[in-house]
Amino acid sequence: MVPAVESILADIEARRAEMVELCRDLVRIPTVNPPGSDYPEFARYLGARLRERHFELYFERARGSDADSDSFPRINLIARKSGGRPGPCVHFNGHMDVVPPGAGWSVDPFAGEVRDGRIFGRGTADMKGGIAAAVVAVEVLVDRWPDFPGALELSATVDEESGGLAGVGYLAEQGWFDPRRVQHVVIPEPLDPERICIGHRGVWWAEVSLSGRIGHGSMPHLGACAIRHAAAFLQLLEEELRPRLAQRRTAMPVVPEAARRPSLTLHSIHGGQMPPARGLPTPCVADRCTVILDRRFVVEESPDQVRAEVLELLERLARTRPGFAFELRELLLVEPLWGDAGGLLPRTFARAVEEVLGIAPAFVCSPGTYDHKHVLRIGRQPSCIAYGPGRLEQAHQPDEHIAIDDMVRASQVMALAALRLLTQAQTP
Ligand SMILES: [Zn+2]
Repeated sequence: MVPAVESILADIEARRAEMVELCRDLVRIPTVNPPGSDYPEFARYLGARLRERHFELYFERARGSDADSDSFPRINLIARKSGGRPGPCVHFNGHMDVVPPGAGWSVDPFAGEVRDGRIFGRGTADMKGGIAAAVVAVEVLVDRWPDFPGALELSATVDEESGGLAGVGYLAEQGWFDPRRVQHVVIPEPLDPERICIGHRGVWWAEVSLSGRIGHGSMPHLGACAIRHAAAFLQLLEEELRPRLAQRRTAMPVVPEAARRPSLTLHSIHGGQMPPARGLPTPCVADRCTVILDRRFVVEESPDQVRAEVLELLERLARTRPGFAFELRELLLVEPLWGDAGGLLPRTFARAVEEVLGIAPAFVCSPGTYDHKHVLRIGRQPSCIAYGPGRLEQAHQPDEHIAIDDMVRASQVMALAALRLLTQAQTP
């Protein structure tokens, strides 16, 4: 029999402390990327937990992918449980990797400290809190409803923060998200529990290498300084491209509001001689300087336009600036994605958010990309959203944290929505 909604919600509330401990355990496994450490330990830990509930487990190592190595193996976990009756498969996917903690923490980033109703630590919001909420939601469903129709799946995947090719990208290539075996995919990324995310902006990363000519630092006129070439390029970016981007505004519902405009981040600049470990540098004119650009774009802009706008500035400098030589290398291109809020999956989640939180959720797009792109473009799976308990502005911050109340409520939303999705196919 289909369990009563109240009993599912009450079961999740009753497992609040267990959910907190699960999140803390996951935070204590320092799956930092780069380099991608402790993935096997994370997969084993979560697998062991789900094996107790008789989930079938699959450990998929992305052998042959660029990032995979014996020192840092890219191991993905998929756990599946079927209720033994026909029905759809609802899949929850979370990335196990976290970005390095960086500076500025007032707590140990890998201790999972609990204070004032919140859990602190790298990855609490992005997205181990979301994984813990999804795991408890699925466990409550299978415990209350052993003969549920269809199947429930949970996957914990690697490398989302570095493009996801060895994680969701790899699983999608292997057919794990094929619409013939999975009908709905939910990714509990931190986009706020009052929001349902149906897409993201596009991203273009490019490396611009500028070359000059080495010479003595006391006679710079006999060399050509690549750092000054870079400065001329940056000046054009600031004076021409940035104001142009500020004029554009997308119709995509990107959050936060400021991200409705396309953006340009100067990711890094490396030029000239490396500073010596000790002693003084030697006097040289810099013969190389590399700039990495992180350009985020919206559906109204095409990848060709994004590329051409940077190329035009570089070509102009090559024509007008003596000795200016450049090389442009594209590192990553992901097109923007804006899904349909009217599909069964987003509508079912919207109804569950209204019931649990008492508010109508906003349908939004993420400022950055996430694994949705692989589910859709490689997996050919159109029914995918991001919905999770973490708050967007906590992602990658020092003192990252997640509110325990948000985790419990998002878990209730996930369980309720999954219950409806599983029964939907039963009622014609
Ligand atoms: Zn994330």
